[in-house]
Amino acid sequence: CGIFGYVNYSTEKDRRYILNVLLNGLSRLEYRGYDSSGLLVDGDWGQDVLVFKEVGKVTKLRGLIESSRPNMDKTFQTHVGIAHTRWATHGPPSRVNCHPHRSDNTWEFAVVHNGIITNYKELRASLLGEGYTFETETDTECISKLAKYIRNQHREIGFVELVKTVVGKLHGSFGILVKSISYPQEIIAARKGSPLLIGVRLTNDIEADVIHIESVIKRDSLNMPLMNGCKSASASHGKYSLPPNPTEFFLSSDASAIVEHTKQVIYLEDDDIAHICGGQLNIVRSTNDKFGCTWKVQTIDLQLQD
Ligand code: GLU
Repeated sequence: CGIFGYVNYSTEKDRRYILNVLLNGLSRLEYRGYDSSGLLVDGDWGQDVLVFKEVGKVTKLRGLIESSRPNMDKTFQTHVGIAHTRWATHGPPSRVNCHPHRSDNTWEFAVVHNGIITNYKELRASLLGEGYTFETETDTECISKLAKYIRNQHREIGFVELVKTVVGKLHGSFGILVKSISYPQEIIAARKGSPLLIGVRLTNDIEADVIHIESVIKRDSLNMPLMNGCKSASASHGKYSLPPNPTEFFLSSDASAIVEHTKQVIYLEDDDIAHICGGQLNIVRSTNDKFGCTWKVQTIDLQLQD
């Protein structure tokens, strides 16, 4: 029902800071209604994955985190976190059914999802046939398992191309965030029929109007070139334009969770795939036939009620 994600490339921050950002983000989404919540954070290069899930209010999730005292003072240069408030559609509200959902017990792929995957039974059946096992009753779990399956088929695949392949197989509606220890310090947001937006906070005085949007280039090969350390479906075309400037990104299904951090936002459209990697944001937009256009970040005017 509510998605919140946070990527920090700015300055060294401790665990307490990022957990607070995520929990506050979830609290901002509470008005939408939900039955359970969960979050995942990791540190530099995907180290130290922490996952918490709880049924009930976000305060209960906060309580769970505080009582387990997860090495709060540990600092990392880069943090990636994803969080979710769930309104159960498939599988009752329970800890195991809370998002994020995982591909396997190493959390190679972790997914938070809003919406409904209508063909999840078919996807689940074919993944079961491939030897994958499921631990939840959700429709969402097939997304993380599918990501693992595709990666196992194509070990060199870039993260964008991988998620593009995954979402190409999904029917129904979704807003998703995907992170992976195989693509550490990166995050992908994709949507179809569910809202998603990205807030950008630059810590230097660099204009934030230079985010580069590329049209999807149809490619047969899955062996994508490497650019700036990030493998991207369209890396050989155009250039990344958001400067590799110390940056924080906030991803959410709802502007109310972002505006306390930044008013610079980008609304994703259906079929967009947004990739944050190495401090840069790149959006692959399949509906845009004008190659290489630059899109201004919008400033939104939304007052929060405390
Ligand atoms: N269909 C998913 C589930 O039941 C996501 C529900 C939501 O949007 O919160 O877990």
